[in-house]
Amino acid sequence: MVRRLLILIALTGLAACRTETAGRTTVSTQAQVPAAMQGVEARQLFGAHSHGSRQDPVPHGGYAKGCLAGGVELPETGPTWQAMRLSRNRNWGYPETVSFIKDLSAKAAAQPGWQGLYVGDVSQPRGGPMLSGHRSHQIGLDVDVWMLPPKRLDLSVAERENISSISLRRANGAYVNEHWTRQHHEILKAAAKDSRVARIFVFPGAKVRMCKDEKGDKSWLRKVRPWWGHHYHFHVRLNCPKGAKGCVDQKAPPPGDGCEDAEKWVQDILNPPPPDPNAPKPKPRRQLEMADLPRQCVSVLQSQ
Ligand SMILES: [Zn+2]
Repeated sequence: MVRRLLILIALTGLAACRTETAGRTTVSTQAQVPAAMQGVEARQLFGAHSHGSRQDPVPHGGYAKGCLAGGVELPETGPTWQAMRLSRNRNWGYPETVSFIKDLSAKAAAQPGWQGLYVGDVSQPRGGPMLSGHRSHQIGLDVDVWMLPPKRLDLSVAERENISSISLRRANGAYVNEHWTRQHHEILKAAAKDSRVARIFVFPGAKVRMCKDEKGDKSWLRKVRPWWGHHYHFHVRLNCPKGAKGCVDQKAPPPGDGCEDAEKWVQDILNPPPPDPNAPKPKPRRQLEMADLPRQCVSVLQSQ
């Protein structure tokens, strides 16, 4: 009886918590979702749009649960970049993201052997969940940058479909391989030092290598976060723009350069800890529907 009461209290607490969250991020209720959009996977709806919404640019929601109003296209080719895999139509973002990419690519072009950057996925024209890949990249503030140094910026559409990036990792990501260069260090550093950037995801061996090689101020390394995958590209995540109320920032990385933490990742790759028998089973993930997203995402889809 007492136990049941406790559960009830816990559930009520949870419900209150959820309402509060909903208040802040204005998650829609089923009633606000038009009938035609109910019960449909949001990724189907967002995947059907070929251009941005005719609205003022606003990221709505969080990196892995949101959408993008007024998305702008990163031109397929510029003086110091090329967007790759054009068939995916994911070279769209919040305007600040597009300018960030242009700026970083100009810095990359100043590195020996680099003509600029090959740019992977940003977001779909209206952001939102995608039919394949990524859980994040939903609000136009995430961008994947290829590790492959661009030798040419005149790749054809077909070449951009077929060329592969290179992997920089060795031993499952514990170390960098022979393709790692000082230029990678400098480009990642330039990205991390940009005030628009919140964090960068890259495989653990790369972070440890940069921690060792950096002889000057290491504070920028705080934003470089070790993560699974991310050896064919690194992933840059921008801060929510100032004043964008419905945009949900991720918690800031812990203080410090994070170099010790990255060492720990490496040790865990080299000597994997035994599996925790009490670890909860991962829950199967349900596809997001419009009722899971901020209510503004309905108008993002409905807009011209
Ligand atoms: Zn990414």
